[in-house]
Amino acid sequence: MEFLLTQYPRRPRLLLVDDQRINIQALYALFREQCDVFMATSGEQALQQCQKQLPDLILLDVVMPDMDGHAVCRQLKADPLTQHIPIIFITAQKSEADEVKCFELGAVDFISKPINPVIVQARVRTQLTLKLQSDLLRTQALLDGLTGVANRRRFEEELQNDWRQCLREQSALSVILLDIDHFKAYNDHYGHQRGDSTLRQVAQALAATLCRPYDLLARYGGEEFVCLLPGTGLAGAVAVAQKMEEQVRKLGLEHQGSSVAKVVTISLGVVSLVPGVGMDPQALVAAADAQLYEAKRGGRAQVSSSAGCALEPGRA
Ligand SMILES: [Mg+2]
Repeated sequence: MEFLLTQYPRRPRLLLVDDQRINIQALYALFREQCDVFMATSGEQALQQCQKQLPDLILLDVVMPDMDGHAVCRQLKADPLTQHIPIIFITAQKSEADEVKCFELGAVDFISKPINPVIVQARVRTQLTLKLQSDLLRTQALLDGLTGVANRRRFEEELQNDWRQCLREQSALSVILLDIDHFKAYNDHYGHQRGDSTLRQVAQALAATLCRPYDLLARYGGEEFVCLLPGTGLAGAVAVAQKMEEQVRKLGLEHQGSSVAKVVTISLGVVSLVPGVGMDPQALVAAADAQLYEAKRGGRAQVSSSAGCALEPGRA
């Protein structure tokens, strides 16, 4: 049977949960060619497996000793990390009430045992296609179309996440806000097409200076970019900012209209703080913006920085 999802960027991850190994083996044989298949023979194991690596779909047996499929489903749906994983129940119970119960718990489908390979494959294919398509759409919705880096929306989401994490761990969170010097003059002189190409090259140079997977570079708007560096103090963030300034200057993109140099340069504002209860994450961005203003006032093509002491509660 045709079961190809080649239009997607990666192999789908399928988790099979059943207390009977023979059932798992039968399902494994159906999906091992096209999916990365993970297995669990108890509810506990299934929950652990989901914490380790998020599956794209779970085939979940209802009747199991200790923790049954319904209980597993309830727990997964109660956890923000796992609540969006689609679940198909597989069960020997055939009554309408059983089926209704499964949908009420948030399952996307219900398959009766003994399983029919054609039916299982068709239903799994449908659910995996939906899941991978929605993942793809979500990824695209969070990217900036012109430069390929994250967009403003993604930045706002990550700011909230990183803020909460740094608050919990009482570690520093740094923000770098930067923009291209005299970019309006650049567009006026060289045209918008060349301006777009420059935005892409600058974005690439900026992205190349970030080496940790949890550092984020996003286009903030127009010719403005923003970086989020969790777990990085002021000195580290300033070092990153200086390297960015250097790398963009090194691109050597001609800019006749610039008062700073005859090449494209950037100005950067850096702020760092350890989040405290009652502080507003947006104040961190506002403080970085104030530093960016300082960098411009100081003659552009430079980094201006500040420890975020002005953000203490009551003084923000
Ligand atoms: Mg069972």
